Amino acid sequence: MKKNTIVIDGPAGAGKSTVSQRLAKRLHYLYLDTGALYRAIALAAHQKNIPPTNSKKLYELCCQCRISFKKMKGKQKVYLNGKDVTSALRISPMGLLASHYSKLPVVRKALLWHQRKFGEKGGIVAEGRDLGTVVFPKAELKFFLVASLKERAKRRYLELLKKDNQRSLHQIEKEIQKRDQQDRKRALAPLKKAKDAIEIDTTTMTIDQVVSAMYKKFLEKMERP
Ligand code: C5P
Repeated sequence: MKKNTIVIDGPAGAGKSTVSQRLAKRLHYLYLDTGALYRAIALAAHQKNIPPTNSKKLYELCCQCRISFKKMKGKQKVYLNGKDVTSALRISPMGLLASHYSKLPVVRKALLWHQRKFGEKGGIVAEGRDLGTVVFPKAELKFFLVASLKERAKRRYLELLKKDNQRSLHQIEKEIQKRDQQDRKRALAPLKKAKDAIEIDTTTMTIDQVVSAMYKKFLEKMERP
């Protein structure tokens, strides 16, 4: 059977990561977390004190960085130049930092190649912001997940609570709002629903309900290519 490309875009906290991983598992597809790529570059730039204004140094950094994924005990691990950076990428300030660096043409260009290489054989569920519009515009199935700001902040708060969270719900809501605005308003590959994407509002849905809705759309698509 032909292996398809399924993309899931949407703002922070809309539930993309969990449902993408579950859907990939159900279909025996690969899972690609494109946000982790942007977070890894931002982390590397931060560690080397390279500001977003230094395009030359950033270009060199993007060429040198080796980012890879490995599945361990059912959990996806992210490696930057051979070092496990999974936890470092998930701490709260990294989201906003990734958003600052992801605006830059040099970073987007380097990662575009990386993402397309990853998806060249199909059989992948990829999540991000510009996958349906820029990275995989010919993807067979496109989803755009949304949820209210309050619900998205609550989800992130509960997720961070498990990891020694120092932030209030209000602070997290403000951070998410700022990141959304930055991602939507940037000139290059902004967060946007592709014309042919199916929008799902996950505000009042459980993870299982979202995955089932997507799986149903997948089956419909298979019947009517
Ligand atoms: O999805 P995640 O929250 O890990 O993404 C972190 C940041 O990386 C986003 O806020 C966005 O600025 C950037 N990103 C992007 N394009 C993608 C995925 C993530 O610009 N395809």
